Amino acid sequence: MSVFQKHTLSTRASSINRALDEIGDKWCLLILQEVFWGVNTFNGMLAGTGASRGVLSDRLNWLQTKDCLRKEEVENGPRRPTYHLTKKSIELYSNGLMAMVWERKYFATPTLDSVELTHKTCAKAFWPVMECGHCNQPVSSDDVSFHPGPGATKDTRITKTRRRSSSSASSEDQGKTLYRNLINLLGDRWTANVIALAFHGLNRFDDFHQELPIATNILTDRLKLLINEGVFYRLPYQQSPLRYEYHLTDKGRDLFPYFVSLLSWGDKWCSKGNGNPILLKHEPCGEHLNPEVRCNQCGDALIATEVHFKL
Ligand SMILES: [Zn+2]
Ligand SMILES: [Zn+2]
Repeated sequence: MSVFQKHTLSTRASSINRALDEIGDKWCLLILQEVFWGVNTFNGMLAGTGASRGVLSDRLNWLQTKDCLRKEEVENGPRRPTYHLTKKSIELYSNGLMAMVWERKYFATPTLDSVELTHKTCAKAFWPVMECGHCNQPVSSDDVSFHPGPGATKDTRITKTRRRSSSSASSEDQGKTLYRNLINLLGDRWTANVIALAFHGLNRFDDFHQELPIATNILTDRLKLLINEGVFYRLPYQQSPLRYEYHLTDKGRDLFPYFVSLLSWGDKWCSKGNGNPILLKHEPCGEHLNPEVRCNQCGDALIATEVHFKL
């Protein structure tokens, strides 16, 4: 199915890239979402994700090697093994909530539009918001600046050219997926990488290419996709030959909380031991950004076990 060409490229260390390399694949994202819903058997996930048996078993193994899933075997029983979240993967919950917020804002999805979230702590129907842990203001890309941290080194990444899976997951199964459009878009990790670089202020083809271990035709393809999806718009910066800069639209900028939650998770769980590569500063309060995903009713930080979903 996939074509691999292996090379390596040394790029700026980034917790987003590290997180994407572990769980940024479309199938991994879909599997984790199923487990968050309480679907934890092989057959259940097969139905819920639309993956083939081979792909599903490959990704389940991968997620176990990354300590993102724990397999429970049932000895001598008729029951099949089940897969469970770990300490590490349960913290991707805020990331899932931020995905849902974006999806609801930009896509009409009957399932998602009718979902009701209840916060067990305050017993109210709520909506998740990302706020600065220091000044309690909502986090947006305009208000955050990036600075090199103690771990601002280089990471060696393997060059892989893998074809985007051509069948869009939405045509196969709606299931209980609350953010399938986002997964279809970002589940190709290079597309997600390009957006992350745009948040860091990169906007030209050559700048993107220098930071990504991918072939130029793949980068061209992903930029085209991001324009078609309304995440980027382009502006000419040179006339002959004609060259464009790529900028985030409002829809693109609204992905910021999703990426910030991924970055925090990567800082905590995918660190290479020498500190965070990038430090985020919340400009309105001047403090280091500690992003918290909270209940908009009581202001408490949200954790998976305290949220009830009703479809
Ligand atoms: Zn702040
Ligand atoms: Zn609450």
